[in-house]
Amino acid sequence: MKNLKKILLAFVTTTLLVSCSGKNQKGNSNESDLSNNSNKKVSSEIVSDGVIDLGTSADFPPYEFFDDNNKIVGIDAEIAQEIGKKLGVEVKIKDMDFSSIIASIESGKLDGGIAGITANEDRKKNVNFSDTYGKSVQKVIVKKDSSFKNPEDLKGKKVASQLGSTGETAAKDTYGEENVQSFSKNMDAIVALNNDKVDAVVLDDQVAEKFAAANKDLKVLDKELAKDEYAIALDKKNDKLLEEVNKAIDELKKDGTIDKIFEKYMDK
Ligand code: GLN
Repeated sequence: MKNLKKILLAFVTTTLLVSCSGKNQKGNSNESDLSNNSNKKVSSEIVSDGVIDLGTSADFPPYEFFDDNNKIVGIDAEIAQEIGKKLGVEVKIKDMDFSSIIASIESGKLDGGIAGITANEDRKKNVNFSDTYGKSVQKVIVKKDSSFKNPEDLKGKKVASQLGSTGETAAKDTYGEENVQSFSKNMDAIVALNNDKVDAVVLDDQVAEKFAAANKDLKVLDKELAKDEYAIALDKKNDKLLEEVNKAIDELKKDGTIDKIFEKYMDK
């Protein structure tokens, strides 16, 4: 038993060490060997190790969520893979808290992030943003059996949001910082609402609709609090990557691929 504990501990420590080591130090791992030869030269011109590493927060259906096989799927995951195909570069998506994505790009652990990320002026100081590929508005979810009909009815009430999100900003602007409780994961905010720990959750509308569809006790109020546009966040030091990703997005918009991906996940 003791030995097993030791082995487990060693395993966890090694895994942690490996996953904490920065992207810049993983240059000689064999991951880059997976990209095919003909594209190798191009891929290393775009990203030094030949792999585009993107962060996401897979608690944001239909953009990113875990399927039954524990694989990250959704609109963003598919767009990212299509971009990879266009560029001939392998794309890897890693799950993390939404609030860590931009910092991980800045520190060089990631090349970018695709997570329904709203391109706003504040974030533009820290990352490049690709051309936009989606639109959203911030909405309020409440319990169906509550008396709240409009966002204004929640003045002075406890409202939840995801840490570091534009939903959090909209919630603080509307209800005051002291009334907003932030959670690392959207699911935890929804659970808090279900358990009456908070009166509402502010988040992106399509995601709010998915949560409400999966939970018969919840409903989304009509009126919006703010507007957002989604873009891929990219390493500010890599203009080549920005240029190539924008070219790919443009082609995927023109050939109908992005529309098709949206249709697939909006129907579900
Ligand atoms: N669009 C929101 C933002 O950029 C929320 C994104 C998310 O939670 N994945 O902050």
